[in-house]
Amino acid sequence: MKALVKESPAVGFVMKDVPVPTIRDDEVLIRVSRAGVCGTDVHIHEWDDWAKGRCKPPFVVGHEFAGTVVEAGKLVTDVHEGDRVTAEGHIVCGRCHLCRTGNAHVCPNTRIIGVDRDGCFAEYIAMPAGNVWHLDDEIPFEVGGIHDPMGNAFHTALTADIPGNTVLVTGCGPIGIFAVGICVAAGASHVIASDVNPRRLELARVMGARDAVHPSEVEATVRRATAGLGVDVVLEMSGVPSAVHQAFKEVRVGGRVQMLGIPAKPLEINLATEIIFKGITVYGVVGRRMYDTWIQMTQFLRSGKFDPTPVITHRFPLEQHAEAIAAIKSGEAGKVVFEVG
Ligand code: NAD
Ligand code: ZN
Repeated sequence: MKALVKESPAVGFVMKDVPVPTIRDDEVLIRVSRAGVCGTDVHIHEWDDWAKGRCKPPFVVGHEFAGTVVEAGKLVTDVHEGDRVTAEGHIVCGRCHLCRTGNAHVCPNTRIIGVDRDGCFAEYIAMPAGNVWHLDDEIPFEVGGIHDPMGNAFHTALTADIPGNTVLVTGCGPIGIFAVGICVAAGASHVIASDVNPRRLELARVMGARDAVHPSEVEATVRRATAGLGVDVVLEMSGVPSAVHQAFKEVRVGGRVQMLGIPAKPLEINLATEIIFKGITVYGVVGRRMYDTWIQMTQFLRSGKFDPTPVITHRFPLEQHAEAIAAIKSGEAGKVVFEVG
């Protein structure tokens, strides 16, 4: 089969023919239809310090996908040939303290497809049946293929109290823009989105942000929208230090800051003034809760109140991987998707 491979510890990907994966008795083989491209793939492509410390080439890249099951191992009972599916890309141990207390999203033994084992930028992928998530008939593969980053946004938004509340989303990358739409669908009273990029602010408006503004306008916008109180909830989705400080500044006393964005380096926080004396709650987001986030995501999609398709701005065949990476690096794209088969 054709696959996009991280061939060696250097910059770049290579398209090549590799064997179709063999499956274990508890796994299924999935023919990939659509696959989302993510910032993580760019890190692996660029072979930055994070990638050097984490990844062991050669491996097939990619962790966001949807497709059709073509074969099921003999221990698999509830996933069948022909099923339309996506999958949770974090493969957890199921046996540790975290897994056994309903917190598998922070399982210390997590292995991620396309990072720690072969991924989905290929015609076929093998997945443990326990990670497979069925798609409703009405959900196109393209939407199935972005359940992973949408799930990040659902996890971030819905572990806060959104109905009736005022929300600031700092950072309108694909995940931030999804989060805007989710907060609107979940009944936020006022969603403010911020980014330095006008194209992305435009997408945030399309997804329902009442205000979509440059970071320099956030303070005045929040003051106006909340009668000077500060927002009830901030979803920090940029990982940029100035936005992190802004999150703590603009949240109201007693409010909540949901931290999804990953700063490139350690950053200094004044715990006393930014967190403790404000009496706020800070929540660190990792991946998607298994599987409450997936259930919520499916039910929001079913309701028709949340439609992620405007966020998808670029589509490429696998062969045009260089163009796909360039589109993400340009900062002009929403979600970039590979049309595999
Ligand atoms: P992205 O890099 O496309 O989005 C970040 C956005 O922040 C960009 O649009 C950028 O223009 C904007 N930005 C820059 N400076 C800003 C500022 N001062 N104020 C507001 N916005 C600013 O990333 P993404 O794919 O949407 O992911 C968002 C973040 O979440 C990234 O940091 C990513 O690494 C992280 N992430 C975390 C998890 C997790 O499980 N915690 C999972 C996936 C991604
Ligand atoms: Zn575990």
